[in-house]
Amino acid sequence: MQWKDLFRVKPKYVTVSPEIIKRRENVDKEVIDKKDLAEGLWFKCQECGDIIYNRELERNLKVCLKCGYHFRLSGLERLAILLDQESFLEYDADLQSVDPLEFHDLKKYPNRIAEAQQKTGLLEAVMTGEGKIFGHDVVIAALDFNFMAGSMGSVVGEKIARAIEKAIERQLPVIICSTSGGARMQEGMLSLMQMAKTSAALAKLHDAGLLYISILTDPTTGGVTASFASLGDIIVAESGAVIGFTGRRVIEQTIKQKLPSNFQTAEFLLEHGLVDMVVNRKDLKNTIGKLLELHDAAKGGSVGA
Ligand SMILES: [Zn+2]
Repeated sequence: MQWKDLFRVKPKYVTVSPEIIKRRENVDKEVIDKKDLAEGLWFKCQECGDIIYNRELERNLKVCLKCGYHFRLSGLERLAILLDQESFLEYDADLQSVDPLEFHDLKKYPNRIAEAQQKTGLLEAVMTGEGKIFGHDVVIAALDFNFMAGSMGSVVGEKIARAIEKAIERQLPVIICSTSGGARMQEGMLSLMQMAKTSAALAKLHDAGLLYISILTDPTTGGVTASFASLGDIIVAESGAVIGFTGRRVIEQTIKQKLPSNFQTAEFLLEHGLVDMVVNRKDLKNTIGKLLELHDAAKGGSVGA
């Protein structure tokens, strides 16, 4: 894992030659050849179709400069945009899934895990640890959708539960950044049990009077929505994120009704009281920082009173 690249003190900006900037300004979408797209220099927004220079997109925290579409972040990128530089200390980095059910669908489960590990450089679909946000100590977890769709098996549940227990021990607030397709079917009932386990750990956190901020990012669905992701004292969703339990098509087929076009978006959930706020990615760290500060002030006040 390349921590040093993500948490280095000074961001390493790559100088863009004036030639490229000129090209960007006069950009004709049709002329950018497939080779450039394939090399990853340019990126096509899946929402508005605009062609964006890749480095510009990265500088804008992977939010489309034209339409504001929020592209998905990996777990590492998520930690990098939230935490103060070089403040992350990872917990349980070596926990890995076993194959308790000897499950195989089209592929064997261990092979799927090995592929996901190779693709992401992670051992599992969540990273947990502690770090600082504007100097406030927090316990933080970030799921990674690139690892088997961020699905929650025994290890994801265990790492999250252990992180919450650590937060109780250390008397720290918890922040969990969710993105998940739900429970991991390859571990069957053992995956479903993680919903109860993580929820029970959060109940203990609540009893200890500690803050839990849940950050919902695109997409958060299934057993993760139905457990820890929805249990935040404060639930913050990123703009445009798809958040739900069951997929839209299944619901439409079941209730035989057409659902509104913005159904299961962060904004729809805000209107209906399921999330507390919808935040643009560029404001996310500031918002969380402010919430931590207010919480600290309130805690200090009650102790002092
Ligand atoms: Zn766009």
